[in-house]
Amino acid sequence: MIERVSEHALRLGDARVDLLDGGTFGLDGGAMFRVVPRALWAPLLPPDEQNRVTLGIRPLLVRTAGRTLLLDAGIGPERRDARFAERVALRAGPPLEEQLAGLGVAEDEVDLVVLTHLHFDHAGGLLRADGRPRFPRARVVVQHDELADAAADCPLCRASYVQDDWAPLTDLLAPLRGDADVAPGVRVTRTGGHTRGHQVVRVEAGGAALVFWGDLVPTAAHLRPHWVMGFDLYPVEAYEAKRDLLAPAVAAGAVHVLYHEPGQALGRVVVDADGRGQRLEAIT
Ligand SMILES: [Zn+2]
Repeated sequence: MIERVSEHALRLGDARVDLLDGGTFGLDGGAMFRVVPRALWAPLLPPDEQNRVTLGIRPLLVRTAGRTLLLDAGIGPERRDARFAERVALRAGPPLEEQLAGLGVAEDEVDLVVLTHLHFDHAGGLLRADGRPRFPRARVVVQHDELADAAADCPLCRASYVQDDWAPLTDLLAPLRGDADVAPGVRVTRTGGHTRGHQVVRVEAGGAALVFWGDLVPTAAHLRPHWVMGFDLYPVEAYEAKRDLLAPAVAAGAVHVLYHEPGQALGRVVVDADGRGQRLEAIT
């Protein structure tokens, strides 16, 4: 059973999920849509004068079965320098600790942080501005291969990883090898595609399911399985993972979270009025 608590919060049985506001930033529109012509994507995500499209940053707080989890950690705006902030048109959201406090959660009450992958816009919030772990009691779950690739400094991935985001957390990092149950009703599925070790997160409670897609389906425009990103290191794998995972989840009526969607980022998938595209519709 799914019950709406507010615009950004739902109950799935006894579990509660809250969509957080990690601010927005901008990335090159062409890179977000690979071979899709600008004429097709620009009406959906209008680019600025530098061809950047505005993207949301939406970590999810999950409270289920006595556990408190955070899915992806935001970009860590307070840790980024002015040059970087300008390059990616970074707009900070309200401080993460304030948002959590507003929901009755202290940072040391977070038991588990699940990262879809280690890119700077997903892992940046793991540390405070002073470099201390933001969630000192939390195990940080990420795929082993993701950690290996982020540490390897490979020429094609370098720009997306910031070693300082996660390297100081050695004691808290809990690498996984493949699919795993990480908490009661919370399962990660390794998809690859965007990065070799990318994973998505499925939360099940009260007979309902929610899927947190990370960068496999970053925005509603990317609900089309063949609209993969130029940023995807393994685009064929990204397409195949979407093809295999998305349709069954939509057919089953799952709730979806699209981490980079600047509009409706939490809801059920519906087909647009013109029958061509898909978007998320809020649960009412
Ligand atoms: Zn991302």
